[in-house]
Amino acid sequence: MKITEIEIHAIHLPLHDPFIVSYASYDTIPSIIVKLTTDMGHVGYGEAVADEHVTGESWESTYAILKNTLAPKLIGMDPGQMEKIHARMDAEIYGVPAAKAALDIACYDLIGKALDVPVYDLLGGKYHDEFPITHVLSIGTPAHMADEAEQRVQEGYRSLKMKVGTDVSEDVKRIQAVRERVGESIAIRIDVNQGWVNSSTTLQALRKLEHSSLDWLEQPVKADDIDAMVEIKSKTSVPVMIDEGLCGFRDMREIIAKRAADKVNIKLMKCGGIYPAMKLAHMAEMAGIECQIGSMVESSVGSAAGFHVAFSKRIITSVELTGPLKFSEDIGNLKYDIPFIRLTDKAGLGVDVDEAILNKLTVYSEKVLG
Ligand SMILES: [Mg+2]
Repeated sequence: MKITEIEIHAIHLPLHDPFIVSYASYDTIPSIIVKLTTDMGHVGYGEAVADEHVTGESWESTYAILKNTLAPKLIGMDPGQMEKIHARMDAEIYGVPAAKAALDIACYDLIGKALDVPVYDLLGGKYHDEFPITHVLSIGTPAHMADEAEQRVQEGYRSLKMKVGTDVSEDVKRIQAVRERVGESIAIRIDVNQGWVNSSTTLQALRKLEHSSLDWLEQPVKADDIDAMVEIKSKTSVPVMIDEGLCGFRDMREIIAKRAADKVNIKLMKCGGIYPAMKLAHMAEMAGIECQIGSMVESSVGSAAGFHVAFSKRIITSVELTGPLKFSEDIGNLKYDIPFIRLTDKAGLGVDVDEAILNKLTVYSEKVLG
């Protein structure tokens, strides 16, 4: 089986509400969808959502790299030879994990469909039957975040992830307001997205939050400062998670060597797709570090890819892939049974892509042929 054609679509996914984190605010999410076709007529879809603040890639650069650099090199290759495909991509260009993830995901979707098995069966089989879905609260006033938290708990959510990271004292008020409103039985995770910058600010905040029963604290300090994470971890009993500080294998080696985290947040867009994500999960497992599979805000295609990895690994104990719930229009039909996600046994990613919607959301597109 050989890849004969790669279609690349640069799309805008419309959001219900603006998505606000410590470093940016978004009304639509720019994404890239790729569609692979083989000489046997099989089709697979993949997605790249670039985050310039995390991997240094942009929507525009990802499109250009896929079109000019990566896609032409994959024409003629067997989509089932993942080790070879990644070696070819890595030889062609360093980094650019989101661009590589798009092609990696499309290959898995295609092979799953060709063999008529879900992608998790290509990854060792389904280990988890379901994951609870965490609702993510965008940064707002303490009262507004508490109102939204209360509403979501009434809808059935049992865990909340709060985005904070603008101002430490205001963040502490936000967290205390939400904890007070939802009570002790709801899990609260905090994602600072590097906004508390260093270890001293973080330790001050943690002291004030001693009685807030936090599940874990995610990426309080600058991504590159693994040593600050080591210090925080040694001085608090709140579990700490590294997100932006973990992209690929080099980062994971440092985190393991320094025992810098209790948990890590693996994202396909940071590491290059399903295949490298599985390697990272294996590294973490050997070091006794728990994993979460997270995502950028991705459509049904990218999100489903993350779920297939998560469902197949025991060391992956939580997921944060809520992109499709945020979109007013999506190219695919990944289904959530809120507040849970359960995967079907449909082949490939298990997502039907609506070509009419894909074309409608496409800003520009290109076809790369052999
Ligand atoms: Mg995060």
